[in-house]
Amino acid sequence: MEYQRGQLFGYEVREYLREKWGRRCVYCGAENVPLEIEHIVPKSRGGSNRVSHLTLACRVCNQAKGNWTAEELGHPEVQAKAKGPLKDAVAVNATRSAIRNGLCAMSLEVRSWTGGRTKWNRERLGLPKTHTLDALCVGDLAGVSGWHATVLAIKALSRGQRCWTNVNAHGFPRGYSMRYNSYG
Ligand SMILES: [Zn+2]
Repeated sequence: MEYQRGQLFGYEVREYLREKWGRRCVYCGAENVPLEIEHIVPKSRGGSNRVSHLTLACRVCNQAKGNWTAEELGHPEVQAKAKGPLKDAVAVNATRSAIRNGLCAMSLEVRSWTGGRTKWNRERLGLPKTHTLDALCVGDLAGVSGWHATVLAIKALSRGQRCWTNVNAHGFPRGYSMRYNSYG
């Protein structure tokens, strides 16, 4: 139902655009600012709502652009790129299909969802963005519980008994290894 109302669909479009346009304002290059969905050719000038005609811009650039096209604003590259396919996404989708087909061929139960849905779940449930929580937010879910549990990260270190010193063919020291570690 929510998908049909457009909220999740909005996430898909926004994520697609963020991938395609590199998560920055296409006009000034600003990063880590709120980005607004922007018509490369304004609707008043015949631009459409098709996703291939949209890009992302910061609020300042979006408002400054007004009724101009990207090309008129001095950014013909934006208009050129809008026509091109999303190469990275094509590669990711092809890989995802290959993995999915491989798993299905092993008679495993396989289901898949989009990254847009993962983000939608995470924000809907008010969870911070971490790899672990994103993994828990994949797919159809009502909620995520128990995620405040402490996770212990264990890192394996060598005991440092190998080759502190390089030796030559006769067993004589030849320079010193630059490796140190806490176990000495
Ligand atoms: Zn900008």
